[in-house]
Amino acid sequence: MRIDIATLFPEMCETVLNESIIGRARKKGILELYTHNIRDYTMDKHRRVDDTPYGGGMGMLMQAEPIYCCYQDIVQKSGNTPHVIYMSPQGKPLTQKKAIQLSQQEHLLLICGHYEGVDERIIEEIVDEEISIGDYVLTGGELSALVLVDCVGRLQEGVLSSSECFEEESHFNGLLEYPQYTRPPVWHKKQVPEVLLSGHHANIAKWRREMSLLRTLKKRPDMLDSADLTENDLKFLKNCKNKEV
Ligand code: SAM
Repeated sequence: MRIDIATLFPEMCETVLNESIIGRARKKGILELYTHNIRDYTMDKHRRVDDTPYGGGMGMLMQAEPIYCCYQDIVQKSGNTPHVIYMSPQGKPLTQKKAIQLSQQEHLLLICGHYEGVDERIIEEIVDEEISIGDYVLTGGELSALVLVDCVGRLQEGVLSSSECFEEESHFNGLLEYPQYTRPPVWHKKQVPEVLLSGHHANIAKWRREMSLLRTLKKRPDMLDSADLTENDLKFLKNCKNKEV
């Protein structure tokens, strides 16, 4: 998968993209990640990419043309048209479902706004969708773009050791993940649940499913409305509610 990030702060992105699991996947060539400085595409002799908004108001706005030239350069050099995302607090929320959907794309271009945002016409001209990482406002789109690269990138084959790594995780199947433990078996007088030491795979799977349901019920009951639940799950949840666990 290829992801391009158009930004005024490529170094900020590069630092993060070269670290840890995503950095390793990048080095191995599993993820093709490129950052582009939008400032390199301005015709202004002072390398300006922003101007005051028509109609007045506070702050500056990023101009359409440098972003457009950056986009055209990416299309020309990559030889294909990427799915273009403008990172924006006005966008649809980034969820695990959305990340799975985006992970099927071959080529994404993430546009990071700054200042008051971007000239509306660039959104109309090249953007396929706007995505937000939450109902709050950041100073720029870089952090949100990096969040998107991380959660979409880790879903690509070969980035994690196996797809099981994310298939059992919170949000993948609409539930939160069960509690996990590692050595030692007793820590601060707290014992690892017996079933996990039993080696009995069926019992462990049953316990994990129930803990997953219980956690979701306690921490994020709203998620249960859209989760894919079996008859047994519903029975278990009804029991929990009756006992007011
Ligand atoms: N004036 C804009 C508005 O009210 O919708 C906010 C502009 S914000 C200060 C600057 C840039 O940060 C945006 O262009 C966008 O790229 C990015 N940004 C801010 N909050 C974001 C969020 N919640 N999710 C994704 N990107 C965000």
